[in-house]
Amino acid sequence: MFDVIIIGGSFAGLSAALQLARTRRPILVIDADAPRNRFAAHAHGVLAQDGKPGGVILAEARAQLAAYPNVTQLSGTVRQAEALASGKIAFAVTLDDGKRVAGRRLILATGVRDVLPELPGVAERWGRTVLHCPYCHGYEIGAGPIGVLGRLPASVHQASLIADWGDVTLFTAGMPPLDGEALQLLARRKVTTESVAVTAIEGAAPAIDGLRLADGRLVPLRALFLAAPVQQASALAQQLGCVLEEGMMGPLVQVDAMKMTSVPGVHAAGDAARAMANITFAMADGVMAAVGAHHALITEEGQA
Ligand SMILES: Cc1cc2nc3c(=O)[nH]c(=O)nc-3n(C[C@H](O)[C@H](O)[C@H](O)COP(=O)(O)OP(=O)(O)OC[C@H]3O[C@@H](n4cnc5c(N)ncnc54)[C@H](O)[C@@H]3O)c2cc1C
Repeated sequence: MFDVIIIGGSFAGLSAALQLARTRRPILVIDADAPRNRFAAHAHGVLAQDGKPGGVILAEARAQLAAYPNVTQLSGTVRQAEALASGKIAFAVTLDDGKRVAGRRLILATGVRDVLPELPGVAERWGRTVLHCPYCHGYEIGAGPIGVLGRLPASVHQASLIADWGDVTLFTAGMPPLDGEALQLLARRKVTTESVAVTAIEGAAPAIDGLRLADGRLVPLRALFLAAPVQQASALAQQLGCVLEEGMMGPLVQVDAMKMTSVPGVHAAGDAARAMANITFAMADGVMAAVGAHHALITEEGQA
């Protein structure tokens, strides 16, 4: 019986594991090794790690955790998690290979999956020149013409924000009609709009020459931003009965200030449970979930 099982061993999960490692309690981390930013060559905006590949940051974190004998790290996918009827809070977790382990507390750090549009050329450029976060990758574009593929009403806000990183054209064919307020905001931020539908991204991927429009024109661009809806990367939160709430871009696990979900004993951290997501936030959430789970164990032991 582990004191805490952390499912998802990326930025949120490993950060939780590090805090818990230092309590000397038995901790298990299980990870399927598919972090959300694996498509990007480098991670940016992370203090003291700026420009390092995300995989290198995670490998360093795993190596540091390996020095703690009370931490076990397993590669694999958890396919099932369930509460045990043992009088006290406890859970059983089953991996894809049939291995079954038990823990007194769970931390779900399983992340989200981005749902990309069907547009030809998007998938092979995702995280390189087709982007969602200007803070992560906007600086490297180095100004010039930038597109925003309108998909949601929030694309107006995205285009007005990204205008700080270059000369923005908002492609509006996939959006509800723009009202006067939206048009005024775009004009104030010097964003151009283009209403003809986009049919493909052109250029030698991952580079972009521009966007081909339905009327045959090519609009030259250096990068394209889009707002991608998200799905939970794992169904474990639903399996356990955790309440989900509708976030800005898709469903998120509902948590309190200590990252406790609606199910006693189950905490959630990182992108799975926050709308405004990045590596730093995920790491901070991991710390909070770890402290929450540790305090909950102490409370339970104090009552025994
Ligand atoms: C293209 C792209 C580039 C980005 N670049 C940056 C950047 O430069 N800087 C920045 O700050 N942020 C960046 N981000 C955001 C950043 O990737 C996320 O905020 C961060 O990865 C969230 O960390 P997390 O630990 O919550 O989830 P993730 O990193 O997504 O990790 C979740 C982990 O859980 C595992 N998992 C899921 N289900 C299971 C299961 N059932 N069993 C076992 N393991 C499971 C997954 O395999 C994965 O390893 C980028 C995002 C994208 C999409």
